Amino acid sequence: MNIILLGPPGAGKGTQARKLVDERNMVQLSTGDMLRAARTSGTEMGQKVAAVMDAGNLVTDEIVIGLIREQLEADNGADGYIFDGFPRTLAQADALGELLADMGENLDRVIEMQVDDDALVARITARSTCGDCGEVYNDNTKPWPADGKCSNCGSTDQTRRADDNEDSLRTRLLAYYKQTSPLVGYYYAKDDLASVDGLASMDDVAQSISSALSNS
Ligand code: AMP
Repeated sequence: MNIILLGPPGAGKGTQARKLVDERNMVQLSTGDMLRAARTSGTEMGQKVAAVMDAGNLVTDEIVIGLIREQLEADNGADGYIFDGFPRTLAQADALGELLADMGENLDRVIEMQVDDDALVARITARSTCGDCGEVYNDNTKPWPADGKCSNCGSTDQTRRADDNEDSLRTRLLAYYKQTSPLVGYYYAKDDLASVDGLASMDDVAQSISSALSNS
């Protein structure tokens, strides 16, 4: 089964993707994580995209499609892929359709995670993650443990993303509405879309996603 998690920054795509990875033998393909890894390892591409990402703009279709192509060609024996943060433009959506078709695969479901914009700003400005395992925390609803250690892996590396500030977030939201939200109509027309309430509790969102996948 191959699925896309679609939604604005802070909708909970990464959190739900991690749950799906734990519960099913699926692989999460997050272009945001791939780009951050390229920056950390200091590749030429990583250096090229750093300023664009920090400002909250989209990097080029060519770069992200190339990253996804590489991962799909690597064929890791997964029982399916969760595309998290990809596609974000109509050109990326067309390219993904072609890549999957070339592999004899289908897109099974596109899950749109709907959230209110005020809630996004509150969520993102309170967000931190574990630099080692990626566990997501929120200063208000799930604070970093008082003993200073990640509850999932025990690491002390609490990190905040450079683009998780209010200015970058406004740009990221604008990019979402201008470039990514047309994908809701695109996948609705292809009869691939299911929408869930992304503001419900983490477990309730997971339950809604499971129901949407069993109906696909
Ligand atoms: P994310 O972790 O998904 O919020 O992505 C962080 C940043 O990486 C975005 O604000 C963009 O600058 C860049 N990025 C991630 N995925 C894509 C994509 N599919 N297309 C273009 N830029 C992307």
